[in-house]
Amino acid sequence: MTTTLTLVRGSITDQEVDAVVNAANSSLLGGGGVDGAIHRRGGPGILAECRALRAGHYGKGLPTGKAVATTAGDLPARHVIHTVGPVWSATEDRSDLLASCYRESLRVADELGARTVAFPAISTGVYRWPLDDGARIAVETARATRTAAEEIRFVLFDDRAYTAFAAQID
Ligand code: ADP
Repeated sequence: MTTTLTLVRGSITDQEVDAVVNAANSSLLGGGGVDGAIHRRGGPGILAECRALRAGHYGKGLPTGKAVATTAGDLPARHVIHTVGPVWSATEDRSDLLASCYRESLRVADELGARTVAFPAISTGVYRWPLDDGARIAVETARATRTAAEEIRFVLFDDRAYTAFAAQID
């Protein structure tokens, strides 16, 4: 089975895929950027499941680099996979944690039987990861991860992000 990597410019909330990945924060209770957009468009069903996760297995929140799935609510996807990217640090190399977000999300996607999975550029917004390096880690990790997904789609919100990912794919 081969996995195709694709790029689109647009919003993660518009993707008609089996699973969209949320650049969440460890609280799982919402935030800005991708997280805010997913909860706004997906409706209260996503937050309700996130609260249930916090009340159960994830009492202290979702650790950085891990991933967990919920319903996609009103989104045109079937599932949301929440993952927590690392905050960029100039003094500490957190690349493994960023790679782990992509790996763990694909592992959860496989558990869900997802064949199409859409990712945003995790950590490159509020968490300030440099875009070119974030794109490199995203593409390298997607290529290196064994998965049953047929399509891994990177959804880039602006031209700058699209160009950074395109440079890694070509
Ligand atoms: P993080 O906290 O992991 O940095 P952000 O949500 O702040 O996450 O940003 C991650 C990336 O997603 C940034 O490059 C940002 O421009 C982009 N982004 C913001 N909103 C959307 C959206 N609706 N769809 C896809 N990408 C988005």
